Amino acid sequence: MKFPEKFVSASAVAALTAGIGVGLVFGILLPKLISAQSEGVVDYEKAATIFAPEERVKTADAGDSPEDILSFEVPPGAKGYDGPALARSMTLEPREAWLSWMQTNRNDKPGFLEERYQLAMNFIESSELKRPDDVRAFLLAPREHFVRERNRGLEYADTWLPIGYGATITDPDVVAMMTTSLNINPGDRVLEIGTGSGYQSAILSYLTQEVYTIEIIKPLYIETDKLYRDLEKSFPSYGGISRKLGDGYYGWEKYAPFDKIIVTCAIDHIPPPLLKQLKPGGIMVLPLGPPQRQYIMQVTKEVAGDGAIILNRRDVYNGLRVKFIPFRNEEGTSYSAPAGTESTTAP
Ligand code: SAH
Repeated sequence: MKFPEKFVSASAVAALTAGIGVGLVFGILLPKLISAQSEGVVDYEKAATIFAPEERVKTADAGDSPEDILSFEVPPGAKGYDGPALARSMTLEPREAWLSWMQTNRNDKPGFLEERYQLAMNFIESSELKRPDDVRAFLLAPREHFVRERNRGLEYADTWLPIGYGATITDPDVVAMMTTSLNINPGDRVLEIGTGSGYQSAILSYLTQEVYTIEIIKPLYIETDKLYRDLEKSFPSYGGISRKLGDGYYGWEKYAPFDKIIVTCAIDHIPPPLLKQLKPGGIMVLPLGPPQRQYIMQVTKEVAGDGAIILNRRDVYNGLRVKFIPFRNEEGTSYSAPAGTESTTAP
């Protein structure tokens, strides 16, 4: 999610122009890591020691009571939830043909359809939606079911909205842009950190059948799990979304590695376990930066012949900064790089 003020920090622009912005954004990294990164190479085993010391690593759920272990897991390769096939069968244009396809194939209210189509057109215009598959996925996801009752009338407003528990449903334009930046193809295994309302994963379910999502707030996890179960009757692809209650900092080892990872809570570093669970050639998109303002970064992981990890980073929002809900641990404390770490985040 992000708050409404979308602004470009003049100094951020200057920094980016100087060609060092991305490096700065990536900041709050120990000098060693910084020097490794300046060569474009990250030893993520070392990064893991730096950012995930022993006491942070969750080894077992031994102390958890059974109701704390909540998950819904779809076996990889399960059939019958084919969102991507539905998306590709959709008539995209002209608008009237799309409307009539949606009315034949789905039960959405015509007013919402008009608003959704208009948003999609706006995002194509602004390049926040680029690939046809992403446009199709966006057009299939009924945001009205993920926005809370009290926000009726704002379902297709281009803004974030509260969903309770201090969480938010992210602005549709940021959702569109982050989705497009993941470059998802059918068959990709995708992990989302921060299920929240469930809207982002609903979109993902039209791009690939292998969607995994983790939420840390228990009542929110339960609400969204119930929502997916209810919606599954009309929107079968949501029945293919694997989800669990837990701390997404550690990813979902059982289903790793992932082709794509999307983080929807703010953090000032790349969680090393997530980097580790990303396939070579994989893409991670995350709001990266200090608590108040993050850049939306696309990180591509390459593995060189000698095994070195190379990260290619791109600011996909052209220096605009957003404010996502903090990436927190189970005690409710925000994750940040350890005290004493050199901070280079403030441009
Ligand atoms: N994708 C969601 C965004 C919700 S806001 C949507 O569009 O609705 C970010 C979410 O990240 C919140 O629900 C918050 O509880 C969750 N979150 C924060 N820290 C987390 C963590 N360590 N693991 C999993 N989820 C986390």
